[in-house]
Amino acid sequence: MRLLQSVPYASASCPLDARDSALYAAQGGDEIVRNISEIDAVVIGAGVVGLAIARRLASSGRQVVLLEAENRMGSHSSSRNSEVIHAGIYYPRGSLKARLCVEGKRALYRYCHAQGIAHSRLGKLIVATRDEDIAVLERLKLQAEDNGVDDLQWLDRQDVRALEPEVVCVRALLSPSTGIVDSHALLAALCRDARSAGAELVVSSPVVSGCVRADGILLSGGGAEPFRVLCQTVVNATGLQASSLARSIEGVPKDTVPPSFLAKGHYFVLTGRSPFSRLIYPVPEPGGLGIHVTLDLAGRARFGPDVHWVDTIDYRFEEGLEGVFEDAIRRYFPTMKAQSIEPGYTGIRPKVAPSGSAPQDFVVHGPETHGVRGLVNLYGIESPGLTAALALAEHVHAIIGEHP
Ligand SMILES: Cc1cc2nc3c(=O)[nH]c(=O)nc-3n(C[C@H](O)[C@H](O)[C@H](O)COP(=O)(O)OP(=O)(O)OC[C@H]3O[C@@H](n4cnc5c(N)ncnc54)[C@H](O)[C@@H]3O)c2cc1C
Repeated sequence: MRLLQSVPYASASCPLDARDSALYAAQGGDEIVRNISEIDAVVIGAGVVGLAIARRLASSGRQVVLLEAENRMGSHSSSRNSEVIHAGIYYPRGSLKARLCVEGKRALYRYCHAQGIAHSRLGKLIVATRDEDIAVLERLKLQAEDNGVDDLQWLDRQDVRALEPEVVCVRALLSPSTGIVDSHALLAALCRDARSAGAELVVSSPVVSGCVRADGILLSGGGAEPFRVLCQTVVNATGLQASSLARSIEGVPKDTVPPSFLAKGHYFVLTGRSPFSRLIYPVPEPGGLGIHVTLDLAGRARFGPDVHWVDTIDYRFEEGLEGVFEDAIRRYFPTMKAQSIEPGYTGIRPKVAPSGSAPQDFVVHGPETHGVRGLVNLYGIESPGLTAALALAEHVHAIIGEHP
C-alpha cells in the first residue's frame, strides 16, 4: 500500500499484539513505525456497498482508501445475486430495508441512466398458485403501500396468461417498477466514480484486526504486504465477514456485534430460450423470496435462489437439487420440460439471525450504538442490498458527516 504519511506508533491504549511484537523485534523496532500510514477514511470491503460508500465519502471531499481482501472487487455477494432492482414490497414499514430499498431503487435507476449502465425496468409478477396464497398477496400489497410502493396492480388468471402465456396461477400482483441491472457494470461504474473523486482501491489487502485509540482507529492488514493504517473514519462493509471483523477490533463492545449466519442459495439456468418476459416470483418463503425466475439482460432465464443454511463460505453447487427445483418451478410453470435446467451458480446471504427466525432488518451501527467515534459497522446486508447500495451510502454518510 502507498504510504500516505508516517505516524508514530506510541499509544499505551493500543499495545502491540504478539504478532506485532515479533515483527517489531525482528525489524529492529523502528521499522514498524514506518509501516503505519495515516488515512482519513478507510472503507473495508469492495462490494457494491463499500464501493458506493467510498464514492459518496470521496465525493464529499474525504480522503478515502478502500481495502479489499480479494484480488478484485465484488468477488462475493455483489457478483452472486439475482441482479434485481427491487421495488420495496416485502419489508416492514419504517425498517431500513423498506426505506433504503425504495430510495435506493430511485437512485439506482437514475444512476444507471446517467452512467449508461445496462438495466431494464421489465416488471415482475408475484403469483398465487393456490387460493391460500391470495391472502399473502393481499398482505404484500398493503405492505408495499405502507412503504410508498403504490403502483402494484392485481391481475387475474387471464391477465397473467395474456402477459406470460406459460405462467399458471390463480391471481398475481404486477410490480411495474421492479427491474434488472448488470451488476458487474454497476460495480465498475461505482469504482470509476469513486476513483475519479479521489478514492484509492487497494486489493489483496485483508484487514485482520484493529484497535480503537485516542488518536483514531488503527487497522492491521495481512496479505502479501502486511500494513498498519491509522484512520479517523472506518466503515466495515465486509458483507459475510462483518461480524467477525467487528469482533476483531479491540475497543468495539462485543455485545453490540450481532451473531452471523450464512444462507446459501443455488441458481439453475434454463437451457434454450426463455418463455418469460418479466420476473416471476412465487409468494415468499422463510429465509428468502421463493424459487423465482429472473432474467439477465440477454433475456436468459435462471431459477433460484433456494435457502440452505451453511457454516462456511463455500460456493460449491450442491448435487441432487434438480428435483426440488423442478417441483417448485412447475407450480407456476407446469409445462417446463424435464431436464431443461442446469446448475448455474450460488450466492451466500449474510444473516444476523438463525434459521427459523423472523426476517431481520439491515443493521447499521454508528457511534451511538457502539460508542466508537468514526466507526460504522454494516451487518446483515442481504437482499435488497444491491438495490439499496446508493441509499445505504447516503445513510452511512449521514452518520459520519462531512468531517471526521
Ligand atoms: C443469493 C443472493 C441473491 C441476491 N439477490 C439480490 C437482488 O436480486 N437484488 C438486490 O438488491 N440484492 C440482492 N442480494 C443482496 C446483494 O447481493 C447484497 O446485499 C450486496 O451485494 C451486498 O454487498 P456488500 O458490498 O455489502 O457485500 P459483498 O459484495 O459481499 O462485499 C464485501 C466485500 O468485503 C470483502 N472483505 C471481507 N472481509 C474483508 C476484510 N477482512 N478485509 C478486506 N475486505 C474484506 C469481501 O472480499 C467482499 O469483496 C442478493 C444476495 C444473495 C446472496
